[in-house]
Amino acid sequence: MTIDEFDIAILGGGNAGMTLAAKLSLARCDKSIIIFEPHSPKLKSATWSTWADDSEVSRLKPYLKGIWKRWKIVGNQSEVVHKSLDFSYIAIDATKYLEGCAKIIDDRVKLISSYVETEKISDRILLLAQEKRFKADLIFDSRPANPDENGLKQHFIGWEIEVNQILTDTDTVTLMDFRADQSRGIHFIYALPLSGNKLLVESTMLSKNVENDDWYYDAIEEWLTLNKLSIKEKLREERGVIPMHKTKLPSSDLIDIGVRGGSVRLSSGYSFSIVQQQANALVEKIINNDSSLLLKTKGYPLGFLDSVFNRVLLDYPSIAAEIFVKHSSALDGNEFASFMRGSQNIRIWFKVMSALPKFIFIQSFFKTLFSYDYR
Ligand SMILES: Cc1cc2nc3c(=O)[nH]c(=O)nc-3n(C[C@H](O)[C@H](O)[C@H](O)COP(=O)(O)OP(=O)(O)OC[C@H]3O[C@@H](n4cnc5c(N)ncnc54)[C@H](O)[C@@H]3O)c2cc1C
Repeated sequence: MTIDEFDIAILGGGNAGMTLAAKLSLARCDKSIIIFEPHSPKLKSATWSTWADDSEVSRLKPYLKGIWKRWKIVGNQSEVVHKSLDFSYIAIDATKYLEGCAKIIDDRVKLISSYVETEKISDRILLLAQEKRFKADLIFDSRPANPDENGLKQHFIGWEIEVNQILTDTDTVTLMDFRADQSRGIHFIYALPLSGNKLLVESTMLSKNVENDDWYYDAIEEWLTLNKLSIKEKLREERGVIPMHKTKLPSSDLIDIGVRGGSVRLSSGYSFSIVQQQANALVEKIINNDSSLLLKTKGYPLGFLDSVFNRVLLDYPSIAAEIFVKHSSALDGNEFASFMRGSQNIRIWFKVMSALPKFIFIQSFFKTLFSYDYR
């Protein structure tokens, strides 16, 4: 059987894979590239939200479903509202984004609509798809890795809906509304007002176990009732399970990217901005033939502190709402946005940690110190 050879192979053409390919094309990279992705962008029912500065907003504008300057976190007793001068909260239509990347990538990039498998033969990795074999000098892997059964996960179902009422505060995103059933773990409602009568509303859990669909559906219905809203039409559903822990040992043969490559902020579940940063760094190395490329990709550098934060959430889920409200009120809008998108510094982290109950923080710090996966 013949083997097709490429300079670069990208396994998985989701956010990380397509972003990397598009950025390589924009940088006029002259290497031959092959991407393996089984699904059309049309099937990607997802809204990727993040905080973006003005230049990112203008770059991503064609793919945006909404843009906001204010967001709030609602506890049982109190709420925090932030606004930021430097950052906007944006919601990206995943289908439009992936289609946009596909338009940017040039003709030399070959896209194979198929799952791919890897096979190690002596010291080389072969790629198997559509009953053909491929090999490449550099292989970037973004195929989803399975979350640990006992690891903290963010899991959710969201409905995009049209409501019978006129929405009153369309300038403000509800990032977390903790007035939801907390009996099975940390549970909040996330709501994006997309227009005067359109809303994306998600029931989101932070816990080890994924629930039955009805759990999330009931929570969405209850939140709508609490806010005196009723559904005129359900337009779309999206769902996800995002690991909030390191998912696997990076292999020495493939370069892990995206969620698999540590792009998820372990304490917030946000990953879009880190995927972009990761792709920028990789493009620079590829263009410069930098040999350190083969070292494992690093996600977010302050991962240890994220793990301390998650330890607190795992051990004390009943005070999670209080913790989120407290740490949000310790930060201003710009600091909060930097924290959530993974571009904060140690000073912001210190403010967040100071807002945690002292004994709980110290206990979690030492537990993490001895159990942290330092790879
Ligand atoms: C519904 C949903 C909403 C989300 N919302 C946000 C958000 O608001 N903000 C945020 O920052 N993050 C969000 N996330 C996290 C999100 O996963 C990441 O931002 C982003 O998609 C990560 O990119 P990725 O390339 O690592 O993974 P993906 O985008 O999932 O890409 C992996 C790709 O690998 C492909 N694949 C799987 N198996 C194979 C195989 N064997 N061969 C080839 N290809 C394969 C899949 O089809 C997929 O397209 C959300 C996730 C989901 C599911």
